[in-house]
Amino acid sequence: MLTLQHIHKNYANLQALKDVSFSLQPGEVVGLLGPNGAGKSTLMKILTGYLKEWEGEIRYGEQNLRTATKAIQQVTGYLPENNPLYPELYVQEYLQFISELYKIPQPPFIDVLDKVGLTEMKNRKINTLSKGYQQRVGLAAALLHNPEILILDEPTTGLDPNQLIEIRKLIRQLGEEKIVLLSTHILSEVESICDRVIIIRKGEVVADEALESLRKGQQQIVQVEFDYRIETEALAKIPGVNKAVNTFDFNYELYCSKEEDVRPKVFDFAHDNQLKILSLQQKNENLAALFNSLTS
Ligand code: ADP
Repeated sequence: MLTLQHIHKNYANLQALKDVSFSLQPGEVVGLLGPNGAGKSTLMKILTGYLKEWEGEIRYGEQNLRTATKAIQQVTGYLPENNPLYPELYVQEYLQFISELYKIPQPPFIDVLDKVGLTEMKNRKINTLSKGYQQRVGLAAALLHNPEILILDEPTTGLDPNQLIEIRKLIRQLGEEKIVLLSTHILSEVESICDRVIIIRKGEVVADEALESLRKGQQQIVQVEFDYRIETEALAKIPGVNKAVNTFDFNYELYCSKEEDVRPKVFDFAHDNQLKILSLQQKNENLAALFNSLTS
C-alpha cells in the first residue's frame, strides 16, 4: 500500500498542495481529477521522488519515501505530462537507451513491447509514429523495470477516439496488478478508466470516492437535442422520466430514475412525434455535480 499523509507543498508564496492524505493499493485505477493548476503534477512529481522539498509523510509498505527514495523509485514507473521522447531514435533503440540510463538489468523488451502492443513498431522511428503509438512508447519506457506503482500524468491528452479506447484498455489491464494513479482534467476520462476518483481543487482533496458508490443512488440525466421544439410536459410523460428541462434552443435534459435506461424510449418518442434526434447522451449526475462544484 502507498500511503500519503498530510502532504503540503509551497512554491515561494504559492501553496500548491494543502494537507493531502490518501492511500493507494494494487488492483484499482485511481484518477486524480482537477482543473489545470489544481496541483496534480506537483503531487505526482513528489511521488516519483523528483521534488524533494515538501512536508508530510509518504510510505510504501514499510519504506519511507524520504529515506528510501531510491528503493521506491526502483518500483515506480512514471509517464510525465507531454511524454518527452527522443523523436530521432527508433523504438527499440529508445527502450535500450532508457534501460542503460536507469541501469535496468535484463530489461524484458519482448514482453513490454507485446504488453503495450508495439511489437510491430519496434523498428520504426519514434517521429513517424502516431500520437497514440508514441504514448505507448512512453508507457513501455515506464514499464521496463516492471514497476509495482505506475504514475501517469495526463496519459490520454491529445489522443484521437480510437487511440483513447486502446490506451484506456491498456491502463485498465495494468491496474489489475499494479498501483495506478493517473491525472486528468477530463471527467469522462475518470468515468471510463478509473475505479476510484480523488478530486483535487486548489491543492486540496475535496472528494475521494469509489466510482461505484458515486453511481449508486444517483439520478441519470439524459441530454437530448431535437431538430424541433417540443413541450417539456410531453417529454416528462416518457416512461421513466421524472422531469424535463429545456436548457437552450432545442436541447433538453431529462431527469430519470437510475434503474432504467430511457434512451430507447426517447427514440420511440421522437419517432412518434416526427422529431429527429441530433444528439443524445447520458451523464452521471453525482460525479458531474461534484466536478461542477469543484470547477465553479
Ligand atoms: P496541475 O498539474 O493540476 O495542472 P500543477 O501541479 O502543475 O497543477 O500546478 C499547481 C500550481 O503550482 C499552479 O498554480 C502552478 O502554477 C504552480 N506551479 C507548478 N510548478 C511550479 C514551479 N516549478 N514553480 C512555481 N509554481 C509552480
